[in-house]
Amino acid sequence: LVAKKSPDHKTVFTCGGIEIGGPLVPVMAGPNTVETEDLIVESAKAIKASGGHFLRGGAFKPLSFPYRSPKFFEPREDGLKWLSVAKQETGLPIVTEVMEISKIDVVAQHSDMLQIGTRNMQNYPLLTEVGKAGMPVMLKRGYGSSLRDWLMAAEYIALEHDRLGMEPQIVLCERGIVAPHTHRSTSRFMLDLQVVPAAQEVTHLPVMTDPSHATFWQPWVKPMMLASLAAGADALMLEVHPDPRNAAVDPLQASSFEEFDDMMRAMRPVASAI
Ligand code: PEP
Repeated sequence: LVAKKSPDHKTVFTCGGIEIGGPLVPVMAGPNTVETEDLIVESAKAIKASGGHFLRGGAFKPLSFPYRSPKFFEPREDGLKWLSVAKQETGLPIVTEVMEISKIDVVAQHSDMLQIGTRNMQNYPLLTEVGKAGMPVMLKRGYGSSLRDWLMAAEYIALEHDRLGMEPQIVLCERGIVAPHTHRSTSRFMLDLQVVPAAQEVTHLPVMTDPSHATFWQPWVKPMMLASLAAGADALMLEVHPDPRNAAVDPLQASSFEEFDDMMRAMRPVASAI
């Protein structure tokens, strides 16, 4: 279902009024974590003002450690409600992660696109149930997964969309893979830019990148964002925070509102020239 049927076969779908897979390169931006209502509303307003198209933010978080710090608590259902407030205030559609089958309904009520994170790319029961929701899905690439594994994971969702009589509404998101040498000791991930044309060669699904999670280092986000556009990415995910150095999660990779605005300005001529 996800294989291209002809060289120019390309899926374009609309999510929250925004076309994905068409000439526009939608930008999904926001903090790693929906820390508070004020933070997400403030972020949504800044993202909208700079021309971002979607608001991203995690309410359910796949943290790589089980402990809570004084700065961090997982907002869960509260975070979803705060995302909805931000949507009401700005009109930005919401993309947020779903990690558990039992939470699909509530996450779906508060979002326009369901995100499957890198750690759940091969959680096949979750993929099947998310597919049954009949909503647009962003499928992040497992950080140790081949292109084939990624596409077959997408096939699980596409199968359910097909059973519902829909075209598949899936965007594939490259978010960095584990690499032996990553140039900084703080991260083991490297953006696999080559997978963008490689995936587009064989699948009709749109392919996007997340340079923030891939680089894990803000100064490299803008060059990798521009490189993603050059590689043919159909959309971008960028982590944006009002006070990046004090972000509850992933402070090294988040961009400030000013840095995001600069990136949005830098991408316009590149995106329209390609
Ligand atoms: C995220 O986008 O918030 C996230 C946790 O990403 P990933 O699954 O790529 O680590």
